[in-house]
Amino acid sequence: MNITVFLGAPGSGKGTQAKRLAESKGFRHFSTGDMLREAIKAGTEVGRRAKSFIDKGELVPDATMIEIIESALAALPKQARVLLDGFPRTVPQAEALDKKPSTQVNRAIYFMIPEAQLIQRLTGRRVCEKCGEPFHVLNLPPKVAGICDKCGGKLMQRSDDAEDVVRRRLQVFAGQNDQLLSYYSQAAKLSKLDADKPVETIQNDLMRLLHD
Ligand code: AMP
Repeated sequence: MNITVFLGAPGSGKGTQAKRLAESKGFRHFSTGDMLREAIKAGTEVGRRAKSFIDKGELVPDATMIEIIESALAALPKQARVLLDGFPRTVPQAEALDKKPSTQVNRAIYFMIPEAQLIQRLTGRRVCEKCGEPFHVLNLPPKVAGICDKCGGKLMQRSDDAEDVVRRRLQVFAGQNDQLLSYYSQAAKLSKLDADKPVETIQNDLMRLLHD
């Protein structure tokens, strides 16, 4: 398996880029946030356990997250090219991937963005409730307000994109990020991407990086 992990604050655009790459280049894309939201919708045991953490902007415990991602990866063919978006978020999660030869990470890409932009990005974010396509009221508006360009579904705001939860999510991110960056930088696997640019420009920069 060839595994690339996307690192970056909530709102840094890693999910948008991961979805685009999966569609255009055939990567298998796993967003642990999306997986948890689906589990909540489906009313599963994992969903029930995760909900209270997500609602508060806290991290779901490592053991649960490692179990989710390990079983998703175990189902893939050996030659799959994988993008992980939102995992790992802690060093123990990163270590869990590298412990197994079949899930060792090939590269980590860090989406860099000034913190001041993140609140505006997150509170203005809207997602399609049907297909999950992300939009932004200012930066990436849909053609028709409130309607998904791709599938015609209704756009909604994630409950954890409310400003008070956003602030806590950013605090939680800051508490883990330096250690995670050091982990991948010491393993010589880290690349940094300027994510304070238009979506299309970042997509081109990312393609170039992935071809290096
Ligand atoms: P996201 O959609 O990536 O912003 O994730 C939404 C929420 O899901 C986060 O705020 C966490 O509560 C939870 N979550 C997603 N991925 C992880 C992870 N790898 N470790 C712990 N919690 C996670």
